[in-house]
Amino acid sequence: DEASLAVATHALSKLYGRSTALEAVDLRVPEGAVYMLAGENGAGKSTLLRLLLNLEQPTSGRAEVTGLATDRHGARVRARVGYVPEGFGMGPRWMTVERWLAERTVYYPAWDAGYADALCRRLDIDVSRRIGQLSKGQTRRAQIVAALAHRPPLLLLDEPSDGLDPAARDTVLELVSDHLSQTGCTILVSTHLIYELDALVDQVGVLSHGRLTTQAPRDALRDTVKAYRIRA
Ligand code: ATP
Repeated sequence: DEASLAVATHALSKLYGRSTALEAVDLRVPEGAVYMLAGENGAGKSTLLRLLLNLEQPTSGRAEVTGLATDRHGARVRARVGYVPEGFGMGPRWMTVERWLAERTVYYPAWDAGYADALCRRLDIDVSRRIGQLSKGQTRRAQIVAALAHRPPLLLLDEPSDGLDPAARDTVLELVSDHLSQTGCTILVSTHLIYELDALVDQVGVLSHGRLTTQAPRDALRDTVKAYRIRA
């Protein structure tokens, strides 16, 4: 039933020149699921998330996110999504975290400043700092606040624990877990590390060389998941 899918892609493909990043991907993320998109580096995970946000266009195929066609409703889709991008790009080096967060209210009408403050305190973020002075871990934590503070129905998290130390990783897990129980949102998390939000995951998809080779409830994939655990 398409209506109860938070994310659906139909033969989604992406080529960069002659190299295939994604090939005929049919992703199905049920509403309310925590879906782990597993795969080695270069498997196409980040490309898939960028296509879902219409930050890039597919070579062929199409996608619906929260019931909206991404090619026609890119801005509406982005407003409904909390996105933690790959890497640590944030904003101009001179801008304070406080100002950077405040500017997001322009794009996110549902932005909750009180919730953003509470998240910053819980993640121990000094909002008076300038973006150029942040460590990778501090950048990641600010990106996570930005992804949650408008309480979007869908979170797209691209290796969210990248740059975090183990203590911060635990705090983020707790925080996402609380967020999940409060909002009942859907989460699509990309990772090459099995422990990424491990405790919360209930669906798993495996991308390999741009193809979605497996997609199933987590229990049905216990052995696959275990294989990843050994490599991680
Ligand atoms: P990682 O964990 O390393 O980010 P990934 O699974 O997210 O891996 P992608 O970053 O989506 O993988 O990359 C998939 C493939 O597409 C790789 O071969 C990559 O080199 C290629 N690719 C991604 N973006 C571009 C681009 N802008 N131009 C050319 N090739 C690209």
